[in-house]
Amino acid sequence: SKTNLYLTEADQFSARNYKPLPVVLERGEGVWVWDVDGNRYLDMLSAYSALNQGHRHPAIMAAAAEQMEKLTLTSRAFHNDQMGPFVRELCEATGYEKALPMNTGAEAVETAIKAVRKWGYQVKGVPEGKAEIIVCENNFHGRTTTVVGFSSEDQYREGFGPFTPGFVLVPYGDIDAFEAAVTANTVGFLVEPLQGEGGVVVPPEGYLRRTAEVCRERRIAFMGDEIQTGLGRTGRLFCCEWEDVRPDVLIVGKALGGGVYPVSAAIADAEIMDVFQPGDHGSTFGGNPLGAAIGRASLRVILEERLSERSDELGAWFAGRLREIDSPHVEEIRGRGLMIGVVIKESSGTARPFCEALQARGMLAKETHHQVIRFAPPLTIDRETLEDALVDIEAVLTD
Ligand SMILES: *Cc1c(COP(=O)(O)O)cnc(C)c1O
Repeated sequence: SKTNLYLTEADQFSARNYKPLPVVLERGEGVWVWDVDGNRYLDMLSAYSALNQGHRHPAIMAAAAEQMEKLTLTSRAFHNDQMGPFVRELCEATGYEKALPMNTGAEAVETAIKAVRKWGYQVKGVPEGKAEIIVCENNFHGRTTTVVGFSSEDQYREGFGPFTPGFVLVPYGDIDAFEAAVTANTVGFLVEPLQGEGGVVVPPEGYLRRTAEVCRERRIAFMGDEIQTGLGRTGRLFCCEWEDVRPDVLIVGKALGGGVYPVSAAIADAEIMDVFQPGDHGSTFGGNPLGAAIGRASLRVILEERLSERSDELGAWFAGRLREIDSPHVEEIRGRGLMIGVVIKESSGTARPFCEALQARGMLAKETHHQVIRFAPPLTIDRETLEDALVDIEAVLTD
């Protein structure tokens, strides 16, 4: 098969920093992808929710093609006619005063950290060099050296130190532990409203609301990492809405680029964002006209096609159907909207063989944190396709 040739090549000529399923894709459309041997698969991962709008959404492709004919990159040394409309539309959709566009998620997280630290010194009055940001165990915020430095996952850190100081780890979902970790020097609380990479972990009811209240009382910036959970994935435009929380800094990425191009942003009101002076921070590609045009189209598709509502309805129904499957292997089904984790019992081994069995049946899903199969299809999926998927999932889970 052609597949083996590609697998060997990637293995020989690249770093082995991933262990992908042995499938080589060459085409995608909507919820479907095809491999180099002509097999079709349902994409149940959506590139970790970067494909909420599906593969090659026509409106996003058209915006990209149109912009490619005009202007693709200026750098921020000059203005371009796409970035202004992009940040305005992003602010209008999210209800904030300012947005700073970047490319990857990790860069947007770094941007948020820099903004909040500087805000802590300049506005809150924390002594220079003393700013602390509280983060959660089992977090995932990206792979830069600063970000992995506050991971609780040993493998993410091992061999990559020394790390950036100033981060305090607390258990996720524990309000008392969070309150106990707050000091006069706490400037930010960086949190995923639902931990995706951590295994689709939904925090206890009230956790986001209460921590946000403490942040308000103690003048701490609540930094919501919605890179994976945002833009409709969990059945709301942003997952924090489940508890009526408005983060002080909203971090978005992944689906903001519609699966076409890396586009991310840190979003906040002027009190925080205005700490940046010319030269303080930057990115050659951040806010480039191609990315901005794609970002605008990606956002428009989420809103106009009501993908949050779709995710809410289909996700609740799909999770219900998954719970009806009488499987000896399943410990729990959890999640929100179309971000659903099927937790495999330790006694049944890891989730990996289940993902391989799903692949053999024409469905691509990826295990996360050893025991969890994550189902996160493009939000454009329909009920009929999910009905068909349930037949295969039931077969694999009851085998
Ligand atoms: C994917 C992800 C990131 C990192 O995004 P990259 O584009 O891979 O740098 C950060 N935070 C969360 C919650 C993510 O899911």
